[in-house]
Amino acid sequence: MVGNIIDHAARYHPRREIISRSVEGPIVKTNWSEVKNKSLQLTKALLNLGIKAGDVVGVMAWNTARHLEVVYGVPGSGAVNHTLNPRLFSEQLIYIINHAEDKILMVDPDLVSVIEPLIEKCPKVQNVIIMTEKRHMPSTDMKNILCYEELLAQEDIDIQWVKRSEHDACGICYTSGTTGNPKGVVYTHRSNTLHALASAAPDMLGLASTERIMPVVPLFHANGWSIGYTAPLTGASMIMPGRDMTPKALYEMLECGATVTAAVPTVWLLLLDFLEKENLKLTYLKRVVIGGSACPRAVIEKFQRKYGIKVLHAWGMTEMSPLGTICSFKPEVLTLSEEEKLNVQETTGHPPFTVDLKITDDQGNNLAWDGISPGKLWARGAAVVKRYLKSSSDIADKDGWFDTGDVATMDPNGYMRITDRSKDVIKSGGEWISSIDLENAAVGHPDITEAAAIGVAHPKWDERPIVVVVCHRDKTPLKKEILDFISKHVAKWQVPDDVIYMDEIPHTATGKISKVDLRQKLLETGYVHPDTVK
Ligand code: AMP
Repeated sequence: MVGNIIDHAARYHPRREIISRSVEGPIVKTNWSEVKNKSLQLTKALLNLGIKAGDVVGVMAWNTARHLEVVYGVPGSGAVNHTLNPRLFSEQLIYIINHAEDKILMVDPDLVSVIEPLIEKCPKVQNVIIMTEKRHMPSTDMKNILCYEELLAQEDIDIQWVKRSEHDACGICYTSGTTGNPKGVVYTHRSNTLHALASAAPDMLGLASTERIMPVVPLFHANGWSIGYTAPLTGASMIMPGRDMTPKALYEMLECGATVTAAVPTVWLLLLDFLEKENLKLTYLKRVVIGGSACPRAVIEKFQRKYGIKVLHAWGMTEMSPLGTICSFKPEVLTLSEEEKLNVQETTGHPPFTVDLKITDDQGNNLAWDGISPGKLWARGAAVVKRYLKSSSDIADKDGWFDTGDVATMDPNGYMRITDRSKDVIKSGGEWISSIDLENAAVGHPDITEAAAIGVAHPKWDERPIVVVVCHRDKTPLKKEILDFISKHVAKWQVPDDVIYMDEIPHTATGKISKVDLRQKLLETGYVHPDTVK
């Protein structure tokens, strides 16, 4: 059980610090011993609120020590910790809160405004616990509100973690696919523990009690890259940056002593830019884990050459808890030239023990690990999904292989390179945008007959959506009108950056939109993202 992880940290590494930028503002310190005690108090409070084994608690919170208390206090009560991404469109939040059957919601005070408008549509939620002190409680019209610190203050720590089987659910994270509703991935106590052990290994995160890790990746993204489990398991200290993701704020938190950090490439592009402009250096940082989407070579080069900070390019998926591979150097790579090493670092590396990979052709035949033959990438392992929550069929095959939806090559040393995505989901600043949602929104316009949304490269956000439309003859709405129309159906940051008019969108033989051909067509027309035009 994950309770064993926090027990270990509190017993053997009690004074290792957790430094957070609190949601109330100031930078505050605690340690593993205190985190465990508060998790025990939360466990007791949840049991008093009527939480039973297997109930689900939804949590919408930034990276702070308080959120870590929840990571242990919720499963400690026998319940399941369902992470909620505040950036989801409210219809999706309503869907996942109801689908997972969240009984209690735990919400940071500044996120009450996200929950308030949708709470009436979530009839199973009995209480909303606002994660702050009494004097910082926001005013709200929601019923059955509780104050986190007030609730915990009523409880002592005289309680054991509720006994569960290691195969019982511990957490849920939803992933948004290309089609249909978000899908729930369930992590068990066993999968989270094995995954944390695997990610801690020297060739992976390489954590130790002497390290201080700062997860910039939110705990609500892909199981928080499991750092909330891996750090205490090794006795590492943590630095929790809270909600302020500006480069200035992240720099301030990194300078609290972070030796390792982790986030999507966009975060690092912005930070590197800030460091250059302000002529700053990072005093303590030794390694930076970059994943979630492909890390540009320039970012790897700048971190390493200019700042002497090693980049660990990583690949993973919500469905894999999430770690799949990390690009650390094997002996064959250590002897290469600096340029050759950078070539290797553009791959996403090799898997830890517990993860197995294979690439196949469309018929399922294994492809050679020659570093050049791309194929469907499959994964299996102790923390790889077998079936989505409440789905009637497995997504893994009878041997446990899960089709990742990515296309990759494997080289003779076992380094994997993502060459493409078979999905068409658009990834902007580490967040998914469903192309289908955008297309559906666009074709809702009376003058649009067909629409195709695709991601185009963007210097800041990795990718931004654009939408290609075919309009009714003689009726061509203005770009602004189309975008305003779409914005009524999707979250603001998901609205495409541009509209392209075409007479015809290319189709495949089976009548589906061919995005490969569409991209090619755009390339031929010399399309450039409006942001990159000077
Ligand atoms: P998520 O479940 O949101 O973490 O998204 C998982 C997907 O992100 C993978 O299936 C890949 O398509 C993509 N991804 C993650 N890491 C990388 C990477 N280092 N390079 C390229 N794509 C990546």
